Amino acid sequence: MASMQKIRVALIGCLVMAGGLWLSSLGAAASLPQHRITISFDLPKHRIYGTVDATIPQSVQTILAGKGLRITKFSINGEAAVAKVEDGRIKLPFHPDRTHVRLEYEGVFSDDEGSSVENIIGAKGAFLLDGWYPAAEAELAHFSLEARVPKGFHGVSEAETITTHETGEERLEVFHFPHPVPHIHFVMAPYVVNKDRHGDVEVATYLLPEDKDLSGRYLAYIKKYLGMYEDMLGPYPFRRFAVVENILPTGYGMPTFTLLGRQVLKLPFIPETSLGHEILHSWFGNSVYVDYAKGNWSEGLTSYLADHYYDALQEKGWQHRKKIIESYESYVHQDNEIPIREFVSGNDRALGAVGYGKTAMFFHMLKKRAGEKAFGEGLKRLAQEQRFRITSWQDLEGIFSNTAGEDFSGFFTFWLNNKGAMAVNLSKIRLSRPGSGYNLQFEIRVANSTMPVFIPVVIHTENKQEKHILPVSAAEQTLSLPLKERPQKMVVDPDYELFRRLDPPERRAVLSRLLGDPTRTIVLPETNQEIYEILIQELQSQGFKTASAEEIDHSNLGEKSFLFLGPQTELKSFLPEAPENPTGFFLQIRKNILNPKRVLGLILAEDTGEVNGAGRKLFHYGQYSKLQFSGGKNVEKETEASDRGIQLEVGRPATGIALEAVLPLSKIASRVADKTIVYVGEKHDRYGDHLVQLEMIQALHRRHPKLAIGMEMFQRRYQKSLDDYISGATDTQTFLKESHYFNTWRFNYHLYEDILQYARANRIPVVALNQDHELVRKVANEGLENLSPEEKGRIPGELILDDEPYKKRLRSVFEMHQTNLDGDSIPQEFEYFHQAQILWDETMAESIANFLTDRPDYHMVVLAGSGHLAFGVGIPKRVHRRIGKDYAIILPDPGEPLELGLADFIIFPTEVQAPEDAKLGIMLDSSDGLLTVAGFSRGSGAEKAGMEKGDIVLAVDGQKVEDFDDLRVFLATKHVGDVVRLKVRRDKSTVELDVELGAPSRHGR
Ligand SMILES: [Zn+2]
Repeated sequence: MASMQKIRVALIGCLVMAGGLWLSSLGAAASLPQHRITISFDLPKHRIYGTVDATIPQSVQTILAGKGLRITKFSINGEAAVAKVEDGRIKLPFHPDRTHVRLEYEGVFSDDEGSSVENIIGAKGAFLLDGWYPAAEAELAHFSLEARVPKGFHGVSEAETITTHETGEERLEVFHFPHPVPHIHFVMAPYVVNKDRHGDVEVATYLLPEDKDLSGRYLAYIKKYLGMYEDMLGPYPFRRFAVVENILPTGYGMPTFTLLGRQVLKLPFIPETSLGHEILHSWFGNSVYVDYAKGNWSEGLTSYLADHYYDALQEKGWQHRKKIIESYESYVHQDNEIPIREFVSGNDRALGAVGYGKTAMFFHMLKKRAGEKAFGEGLKRLAQEQRFRITSWQDLEGIFSNTAGEDFSGFFTFWLNNKGAMAVNLSKIRLSRPGSGYNLQFEIRVANSTMPVFIPVVIHTENKQEKHILPVSAAEQTLSLPLKERPQKMVVDPDYELFRRLDPPERRAVLSRLLGDPTRTIVLPETNQEIYEILIQELQSQGFKTASAEEIDHSNLGEKSFLFLGPQTELKSFLPEAPENPTGFFLQIRKNILNPKRVLGLILAEDTGEVNGAGRKLFHYGQYSKLQFSGGKNVEKETEASDRGIQLEVGRPATGIALEAVLPLSKIASRVADKTIVYVGEKHDRYGDHLVQLEMIQALHRRHPKLAIGMEMFQRRYQKSLDDYISGATDTQTFLKESHYFNTWRFNYHLYEDILQYARANRIPVVALNQDHELVRKVANEGLENLSPEEKGRIPGELILDDEPYKKRLRSVFEMHQTNLDGDSIPQEFEYFHQAQILWDETMAESIANFLTDRPDYHMVVLAGSGHLAFGVGIPKRVHRRIGKDYAIILPDPGEPLELGLADFIIFPTEVQAPEDAKLGIMLDSSDGLLTVAGFSRGSGAEKAGMEKGDIVLAVDGQKVEDFDDLRVFLATKHVGDVVRLKVRRDKSTVELDVELGAPSRHGR
């Protein structure tokens, strides 16, 4: 909410209390200081005259002298004394029989409304909020006030009843308030006073004449809220409540009245929401007093039972809670984060996100733990038992533990003392069917939370949704959920019952993300900077850094959250989409597609008037993604869509397609023939898929002699080995060795042999697409941030990490299988896994783009794992982003339910057994640079030929063998049944053996 709307209890005294003397606790009322204050004014001279007659117990030895007041007379028990003011305090001299202290004082307060002074005296009246009378230094005291008010004016102060006596030009107003209170306030203006009743309670409005028509609406809302909270908390603690207009922009609540600034008062939502918050403070803050030294619980509780409650009554509780978390994530960072217990007061956004937001969530979680009934009882007891007492978190803990019959000390200590939010993570989701029903098993990890924690989960089946509460008792736990129907989706905490970190798909690119980002930077307009001048200054004062348009390109765009001013030419494709003919003032935020932790904003404005009209209002619209102002008025606001809850796919329902257009491969080839790029997917070890690829290559090559083949299977640093092989300069063995095929791609070479031989025979260029595996693995384990500058130089300039649907798909791969798209085992950290996949895809996309940019007359067939091609999100769209050529995607049978958009064509290849890898049937040990025979597999040809354990392999068919790779490269060109001559060293002699190659066995190579 906007800071202006954030009405808070006056915390004026807390400074005094925090820095001053602490009284041990509350004695009986008799031992509290009692003050009888009389005041009068000389308005034209901005002057107040006052007397204080006080009874101050011996235990209190200091008087706070007030702010800039002059003590004109001071006496103790009727004897004149010297008032020596030091540090704003008067130390009471020792006087064994002190019963009565009297002070006379005067003070001058200007009426400069622009300054932030709390006290004003002038022609418009008097607004006295802080330090306007001298009084005993104590947490609580008694006050009675008599004010001489000029004719035509009305005064307001803390009062159960007010009596008035007309005396000619003045009126004497006496404010009776029988309860102990930290301090009192006084406001006086030419008010129009309107009164009404709510049971025994007198309700009133004190409005300036020009606003008197608002009275009826306010009186009605006062009565509504008094009724609402009496039902919730028990009787209203006072006999009077008034809404009082202030000439300063305040939103303060005091016992028995609230002081609302005149601009605020006119806003339509103030009586609907903020007034209720304020009235609720009559219970929490203004009768149950806050022990500020031990932390302010009252703002969070009041936000929860007012602002949150009003949304909850309209079934919008979850949206409210999500916004609380969202603004916490936007504004609270390591360097400005405090635990709940340290919150005292503050309108600062980060402090508010803790003291109002996170604390409200704390009470929500407490309610869930205690149960609605015990929580409600606890609130009533808090309001009644602690009335007019200084109350700390400890007191709340005692009351709620007591009403719930459960010890909440661990829960309180954890949430009040620790920074941050909890994090919930699910993985290893498995669905099984043990009997008639289903069993959903998963691992749940909960970080940053006290145990136990109760996690709400909603299971979606085809026909219904069921809610489960999962009790989690350890930070990491495997749970299983028996279900009657087959689950399709599982949603964790869709109602935001937990104060937890949002899952990336739950996050929205909203203005607050930009305003709260420590890296926020304005990018100055390329032209017409003068239009934005005032806004630039305002943003700079709100902590924005400044950069010029020339400084930002896509190499550094991902580093920060940027706000671009004015139309942009260079980085257009990365920025929010701008309307074709922008009018008025337009603002839109989107995720920074180069870095999901950051956002990008764009502002377009017609002229200076539009900028200045919208300018300052902007900061009240933090929860929106898109805003349109016209003449300073908001005419459109929109928040982008996002997931509700952490959504996890469990098992998609089966799908089917209408068989209206089954085509032979040749027809499919002609359908895609005019595309520049044809992607043909594969499951790497399915030979049938590779035969389809070959057929497509042949068909397309007939149409386009200038065809190239892009292959995932080769790393681009070994491009030369491919060029040499295709040109005929090297043989297969040299090629396999120089391309490091067996060290980088572990699949049977026969799977790809036909394709490469066809390319070589027809001199079709083959383009190595892939990134260095070590680099990808390093990113998978340590993240992009830990790459060295040299390594960073090897990655593509554009890495677009923000593609939620793809990320989601990768995530379900990650969670379901704990393997990557190619079946390798994968790291624990999903973010790094995701970065590695993107690095991989972007590198391949860049390789394709580079080739086609150099040879624009070429067509290309790209061979890659289906996971990199499905829905176009891995490679195809990333190529398209770079060079914009048209393409088609052909995937072999994915073996799972089909979805619209998966590919342009799905092919169902015949299953064909690939030529088998020819094997010697030996197990080798490669220590000390020697290949020593360590054992044999079953039916080993080598063993049959007389090879012995301990033999050292020296050569095969006359070729020297130095390592595994030499042997694998040699064998790759052979087939099962071929006979090869092995030369081995046995003891001191050399032995030659003829070995018949066998098929792979399950027991070794
Ligand atoms: Zn408040």
